[in-house]
Amino acid sequence: AIGKTKTNDKADRATVENAIDPRTRMEIYKMMNKRWFQDSNGCILTRKEANVYHATKSDGRELAIKIYKTSVLAFKDRARYVKGDRRFENEYCGSNPRKMVKTWAEKERSNLSRLKAEGIRCPKPYLLKQHILVMEFIGKDGCAAPRLKDADLSLDRLREGYVEMIVAMRTLYQKCRLVHGDLSEYNILYNEGHLYIIDVSQGVDLDHPLAFEFLIEDCIHVSDFFKKHGVGVMTIVELFVFIFDALIADDAVDSYLEEVQQKLLARGDVSIEDENADRLFAKEYIANKLVDVKTMNGKDILDLYYQTIPGLLVAAAAGPNNLLDDAESQPSED
Ligand code: ADP
Ligand code: MG
Repeated sequence: AIGKTKTNDKADRATVENAIDPRTRMEIYKMMNKRWFQDSNGCILTRKEANVYHATKSDGRELAIKIYKTSVLAFKDRARYVKGDRRFENEYCGSNPRKMVKTWAEKERSNLSRLKAEGIRCPKPYLLKQHILVMEFIGKDGCAAPRLKDADLSLDRLREGYVEMIVAMRTLYQKCRLVHGDLSEYNILYNEGHLYIIDVSQGVDLDHPLAFEFLIEDCIHVSDFFKKHGVGVMTIVELFVFIFDALIADDAVDSYLEEVQQKLLARGDVSIEDENADRLFAKEYIANKLVDVKTMNGKDILDLYYQTIPGLLVAAAAGPNNLLDDAESQPSED
């Protein structure tokens, strides 16, 4: 059956049917005929916020069906993500909404596959038809996993979640060569002890002209959420460096993070001034002014940063280890 619950309520059905245009409905029926999922009453119930539906396959497997909105307003903002992405630029012609939406769905599938291939927790994409994406359902028994925003986690869980998320962001960048572009507590689901990244349709390649800008926005949104809930977080620039710095060896990531935790404890609260300076540096300097951040390593950026923001420099120097200095060397000297 499709939908969270079955209902015979005519009003409900009408609302739902109205939300889906005839072509989309036709595609859905075709999928049903091919037994992609079953349905008993022809009615799909939407959940409140989004055009994502729950369905069940005949073997009982649960599916999420995302139907992209075809209204012009829905993808007006998206051009900045697609323009500059070599994979999709050509197909994204500003004139035909249906085509644009199809491109959007294709982008989500392609990005999800890249995440999945590198072991990042996310829904596995199964099938794409036009602007309808069938994917793994994150949740159980028709109940979608809560968004991080609504998950109400303990402080310990949140601390684990922070580390899990920044490691995923690093993998996303280093291995998938992608920046999410809309990462926040709204697009992260909490399921069985882990965080799942969703809604990757706007994710961009690293060579996208705005990739750093998007990455820094993602860093800020993720940091703000965890910070607001009492987790000690890195500065935006430190987080950017952790994600960006290819010199941190894969097998050194754990010890790097351990040292970061130590350093955060030693640093205590960062002043509002330093925090503002941190954001400004990240936004103005990294995202816009450094002509070629790509040729720098993390240490270069941090050197510049600590020169620019003396308060943080002092705080960083007060830490037990000069963490970020020897990040690329062996962590063996005690
Ligand atoms: P939008 O572009 O509308 O934000 P999302 O991909 O974020 O679309 O999906 C909207 C909501 O649907 C999410 O906040 C989440 O609650 C739910 N959702 C999306 N994909 C899945 C999935 N694979 N499994 C379970 N719930 C999902
Ligand atoms: Mg979303």
